[in-house]
Amino acid sequence: MGRFDRHALIAGWDQQRLAAATVVVCGVGALGNQCAQALALAGVGRLLLCDPDDVSESNLSRAPLFRADDIGRPKATIAARRLTELSPVTRIEARTAPLVSGVGLAELRDADLVVGCLDSLAARIQLSGRCQLVGVALLDGGTSAWGGEVRLYEPTGPCFGCGLSARDRAAQDDPWACADAVVPEAGASAPVSALVGSWLAVTAVRLLCGAAVAPGLIRVDAAGGTATPVTVRRDPDCPLHTRIPADLVAAVPDTALSTPADLTDHLAPEETVMTWAPLPGSAPTRESTRLADAPPRARLADLGVAPREILPVRMTGRTRGIRYLELAEAGGKGTPR
Ligand SMILES: [Zn+2]
Repeated sequence: MGRFDRHALIAGWDQQRLAAATVVVCGVGALGNQCAQALALAGVGRLLLCDPDDVSESNLSRAPLFRADDIGRPKATIAARRLTELSPVTRIEARTAPLVSGVGLAELRDADLVVGCLDSLAARIQLSGRCQLVGVALLDGGTSAWGGEVRLYEPTGPCFGCGLSARDRAAQDDPWACADAVVPEAGASAPVSALVGSWLAVTAVRLLCGAAVAPGLIRVDAAGGTATPVTVRRDPDCPLHTRIPADLVAAVPDTALSTPADLTDHLAPEETVMTWAPLPGSAPTRESTRLADAPPRARLADLGVAPREILPVRMTGRTRGIRYLELAEAGGKGTPR
């Protein structure tokens, strides 16, 4: 019997499409553990796992990929190692950085699916906004005490921000707002993260196989024994719908291992390259996203620039406007650290 023989008996299952697929999983906590584990076992060809955090003791009751010996080590690296054992056919890359520094916009754009397994409002707003920038579908999950939500955001439909109040959306704008302070820490358990993580994974598999899935948001409630579709409308005033026009993106041979000085070769004198996250070491009151303010010989990766990032170029003077530079893939694949 072959590894995937039982899959072949499922109507609508397409093992070859799964093997050819790249899925980005943002957040490798309890939910990300469960979802990534199911995707790897299903035979997804390439998983890109992004999480800046280390394994802590409270993860051990909910995250099947972590062991007590892993405490203090990066979640993404540990999860990648365990998943490689579970599914040798899956190529897994770990990014041990915050989303904006871990996964570049060109990587999100070229992924077959992006799955959000995040537990902070600010991180989910940021992921939703970055998916909108490059027009890629986002499958987002979240848990509550006895259930949770699975939401599919298509590029032209409502986004995560559409369902939020202006005050909640502003969570991204306050650099001092610790994510956990915005959303108070809630109860969480392995059975519930397994439930919602599996719902995410089965939805992802159907999407990757080209099978139909329910649009919008599904609210799962184990206490009431229900799964209820909830309508979310696209809010025309939502500020998270900016799309990068493909014709304004210029591919450059430089990578995240290049330097700000390397990038100036591609700029006109009145142009300046920006980053998406504040440069490290800049004072909170004078945060800079101008690469011209960074050490010219520093590696972009060390400045928080993600692999295959698409960086905005601001023009000043008479030709006021914006265009973009797309970084190439670095020779050595994987994490910048
Ligand atoms: Zn929106």
